[in-house]
Amino acid sequence: MTIVNSIEELFAQTAQFNGSIGFVPTMGALHEGHLSLIRQARKNNDFVVVSIFVNPTQFLEGEDLDAYPRKEEADAKICELAGVDVLFMPNTKMMYEADELSITAPAIRGFILEGTKRPSHFDGMLQVVMKLLNLIAYNKPTAFRAYFGKKDAQQLALIMQMVKNYFINVDVVPCDIVRDSDGLALSSRNVYLSKEERIKALALSRSLKKATELVMQKEFKVEVIKEAMFEVLNEVDVEYVALVNRQFQALDEVEIGNTIILVAGVVGTTRLIDNLWI
Ligand code: AMP
Repeated sequence: MTIVNSIEELFAQTAQFNGSIGFVPTMGALHEGHLSLIRQARKNNDFVVVSIFVNPTQFLEGEDLDAYPRKEEADAKICELAGVDVLFMPNTKMMYEADELSITAPAIRGFILEGTKRPSHFDGMLQVVMKLLNLIAYNKPTAFRAYFGKKDAQQLALIMQMVKNYFINVDVVPCDIVRDSDGLALSSRNVYLSKEERIKALALSRSLKKATELVMQKEFKVEVIKEAMFEVLNEVDVEYVALVNRQFQALDEVEIGNTIILVAGVVGTTRLIDNLWI
């Protein structure tokens, strides 16, 4: 594996690739969730590139940009063991100029849910993903696939829309959520949780499990499902519980095969999200 810290070095590496590239963009502090994306990229491509970049433009004032877990050495080891070819770790200065044009997430998918709680978060996320996709595919690989987790469902929907709207030549591959054995969706932010908070945090996945049980009993009414979820979430400071279709439009009734159930909440000081696709 080659670690590259500059755009020139990255281009020098990808110029030598003669085949497909699988790309996994991350913010580091890698866990099994990231690894599942890397493994899929490894399985289906000739070359695998992983990026680690804690992108400042997607953090809002007062969020955890400075405190965001950084584990470069461990991350490099993990990538190496997973068979990554190139690990790209740029810095902010080489990724951004002082005054840049921006991308704005569309109202329907960008401003609801995460977007209302974190305005401009998605604009910054789309901006950096666009930059990274262009950088990795610069030397025109025979095929280009980028791997994203369903864990960030709204992010995934927006990236797919950006790729479509801007005619970006990449296949976006959605990957399933990886959970701990107790059900907690893996996240780099889980390290912030104390032992007690971690137990409380399990309510998020439990509320989704409750929703599935109701759907399996043929209870499709969103109002009823939400109420049952809120009961499970009584010890969590809930930000939203939502049932939407794949276009992120609110539903009154669950549509099998076209529904995403999302939950976000704060446990202690840690903001957590989780979701389930049915
Ligand atoms: P992050 O480093 O948090 O920006 O995440 C990088 C990528 O890993 C994103 O596409 C995430 O959706 C994905 N990811 C994060 N956590 C998980 C998880 N538990 N399961 C699957 N994918 C995940």
